[in-house]
Amino acid sequence: MTDLYRLLPEEMEQLVMDMGYPRYRADQILYPLYYKFPKEISELKQLPKIMREELITSGYTIGSTHETHRAVSDDGDTTKLLLNITNGTSVETVLMQYPPSKINGHPRSTICVSTQIGCAMGCVFCATGQMGFEKNLKAEEIVAQVIHFADILQQRGEHVTNLVFMGMGEPMANYDEMIRAVRILTHDRGFGIGQRHITISTIGITSGIDKLAEENLQIGLAISLHAPNNKLRKKLVPTAGPNSVEDIIEAGRRYYKKTGRRVTFEYALMKGINDSPEIAKELALILKGNGSHVNLIPINPTAGDFKRPTQDSVLEFERILYNAGINCTVRVEKGIEISAACGQLRTDIVG
Ligand code: SF4
Repeated sequence: MTDLYRLLPEEMEQLVMDMGYPRYRADQILYPLYYKFPKEISELKQLPKIMREELITSGYTIGSTHETHRAVSDDGDTTKLLLNITNGTSVETVLMQYPPSKINGHPRSTICVSTQIGCAMGCVFCATGQMGFEKNLKAEEIVAQVIHFADILQQRGEHVTNLVFMGMGEPMANYDEMIRAVRILTHDRGFGIGQRHITISTIGITSGIDKLAEENLQIGLAISLHAPNNKLRKKLVPTAGPNSVEDIIEAGRRYYKKTGRRVTFEYALMKGINDSPEIAKELALILKGNGSHVNLIPINPTAGDFKRPTQDSVLEFERILYNAGINCTVRVEKGIEISAACGQLRTDIVG
């Protein structure tokens, strides 16, 4: 079985031509796929009946998702879904909505997609990391998460404005499927979201960062650093292995140079672990002069023993970076009470 959501528009054209139909039939599949969200091939009414039947008998399908659990935050702005994708895969996906921005006056609806079930990186403060690795998601399973929320939003007269690859899993560890999904989602005959509205987050797999820089895409990059030195980082990200802090920062520089897109360093602040003024100074020193941005994330409650720092120490950490000339913000977390925030996703919490 091949899911039509797996195909790039060029591949869709090839498919219809191989079946003996004119090229324009591809758009009669693509348009409904990305604007009407059909559940079955029989709903592609612009195609001749015989062609729909041929697609089905040749093993093509439209992957469907259904919700097995939905949690909505108290303010209604964050929705976390546990989605069952056609082949029985269960995946968590989160929608975060923000009021109109001061810059362009538009509200934002950001979807946080997962690229793997579980994660092999084992970050000690992350619920997904504690699940271990289960499997890589296929491109169509990544696309399906976006389509599911796009359908919900469309029914409310809204649409998806941003995508962040920050859900379960390490995107660079599932590179080929992740980048196929990005190409489908950004293609103007596919889902058509602007490249600049996508951010890919990595724990710092430098080979993946370099590969992404060569893709000729304007994708935003976020690197989860969490520590300014290798000793501390190794404790928090046990698999950091060959990617040293220095290597990671250098890879971020290369990405910026190649794409012109500013890199964000994510830094999860944990009380008594990586939140001291001395560590803030060390971080400022290694990031100085590379034009990057630091996003401080006071840690969310997870299964581990890590505690969120006090507001005062977060502000002190921010002040030290700021005074050293480092561009820095503290992330406003959404959906903590429904375990939808950073580092809280796992698939066994429902019930
Ligand atoms: S923080 Fe990201 S890379 Fe680390 S275990 Fe969690 S999902 Fe994996």
